[in-house]
Amino acid sequence: MKDLVIGIDIGGTKIAAGLLDRQGNFLARAISRSHAGCPPDQVVEAVVQTASSLLPSAGVNANQVAGVGVGCAGHINCDCGIVLTNSNLPDWDRHPLRDTLQERLQLPVLLDNDANCAAWGEFRYGAGRGSRHMCYLTFSTGCGMGIIIDGRLYRGATGTAGEIGHTVVNPDGPLCSCGKRGCLMSYACGMALDQMARDCLSCGEDTLLRGLCGDCPEHVQAEQIAESAKLGDPVALRLLNTAGTYFGIGLSTVVQILNPDTIVIGGGLTHIGPLLLDPCIKALNENINPVLVDSARIVSSELWNDAGVIGAGALVWEMEYA
Ligand SMILES: [Zn+2]
Repeated sequence: MKDLVIGIDIGGTKIAAGLLDRQGNFLARAISRSHAGCPPDQVVEAVVQTASSLLPSAGVNANQVAGVGVGCAGHINCDCGIVLTNSNLPDWDRHPLRDTLQERLQLPVLLDNDANCAAWGEFRYGAGRGSRHMCYLTFSTGCGMGIIIDGRLYRGATGTAGEIGHTVVNPDGPLCSCGKRGCLMSYACGMALDQMARDCLSCGEDTLLRGLCGDCPEHVQAEQIAESAKLGDPVALRLLNTAGTYFGIGLSTVVQILNPDTIVIGGGLTHIGPLLLDPCIKALNENINPVLVDSARIVSSELWNDAGVIGAGALVWEMEYA
């Protein structure tokens, strides 16, 4: 009986892996940080090493494992098992990661976008349990979304549904890493907060951030913005207000288009709390049809950093052979 799965989350700086049972419990965990900035073949090697370390540490044989679910940032075509493009990991365009890993691990592999995996994890085992139409949004270094419609993951025609971070909210806005201007991610994520803070420092604005980053604008980080804001720094408060407001505008688009019953918000920035989330909820309610206010339950992630690994593993059970 194959009652176990392996879940893997390939991020820009770390690979997290877990051996999981059908209830989403971890039997073993492993993390590797050796692959940052490496070419695909070295990342594949790190994934194989990390995944392979799980079985001996749990005393389990490969024939007890139904398959391996892999979540990866970027545009992923799940049906073809291909990374279409990944801005965090260069040289990945059209990489057949699923088949490569399948051959190396000698197990069935499912490849999906990391936000989709995290959404599925929250839907099955986390804050989205019991919902039917659920959206999971990350408010972290970047900004992404996974969509559950009628209890099923919605991937779209080519697997790239949910890329809310690259929806344009201001055509005259800052240049985004995707080449467009004024994407939501140019305002509503950790990278955007850092950039907006650097711009304020470069313009000579009077802010506590200058001291916290040692007068080196390139070193300013979201944690310092949160710290300054909690001390009442007007510039830091304005930046959090901007990021929160734009994230709320993103949420309003989600509510208008998809009418979810539950929205799960995850990602490290949410730990900043009301200084970021109050403007977010305000902007959400101001930018939707009044009949939709309170239509969606808005909740924090329950699985946090484990959502991607748990969800990637749990998606294996949705594969035909499981
Ligand atoms: Zn973009």
